[in-house]
Amino acid sequence: MDYQNRVGSKKGSGGIAGTAETNQYRRERLKTLLQSKINIDSDPYVFKNHLGVLECKLCLTTHMSESNYITHTTGRRHQVNLMRRAEIEKRQNGLTSDSNIDKNIKKRYWKSIGKPQYKAIKIRDEETSKKGLLFVLKLDKIKSDVTPAYKFVSNKEFSRGKDNDTSFQYLVISAEPYENIAFKIPNTSSIISNKTWDYWDVDTKEYCLQFFYSS
Ligand SMILES: [Zn+2]
Repeated sequence: MDYQNRVGSKKGSGGIAGTAETNQYRRERLKTLLQSKINIDSDPYVFKNHLGVLECKLCLTTHMSESNYITHTTGRRHQVNLMRRAEIEKRQNGLTSDSNIDKNIKKRYWKSIGKPQYKAIKIRDEETSKKGLLFVLKLDKIKSDVTPAYKFVSNKEFSRGKDNDTSFQYLVISAEPYENIAFKIPNTSSIISNKTWDYWDVDTKEYCLQFFYSS
């Protein structure tokens, strides 16, 4: 998709359009997108993380569904970021003719801040004496509008089909703008779903997650 041209092609505007114009533009774009059933795979800014959640690499936002992401791409924030991005590209291209520059810019745009601090503690259920694990993550730099989320991912899914070993699986925790953190855990017995519990403390920025094995 050619964002640069679309942004630049707005009639009579050298920069950010007026509100009325933007709203109309947004409505039209949404209509076009819905009609053409935009292929998210070809969008360089959308990324599906291990939790199946869509992330906009341009705005560092998360979206639970494709339609939610599409709506986001028509919003003012995304449009402004597209324009900024086009400006940066224009500048960069003026400085260098390196054809890899576009790839480099895209990489830099995802401002991951590394992995969060965490503790993993072996626990035992008092009633059933089943074994389990408790994870505590310190997420001081989490984005204010993000709630941490977790997902159990099979080894096959995690390795994108390259590894079929079913003796282990992964627990993936996401909390933007931190990198997703994946814990390799045994798969020998299943996890008791109604004993799996997580808690996000907005004040202390601590995220706790615990689960127990059924055997
Ligand atoms: Zn965006």
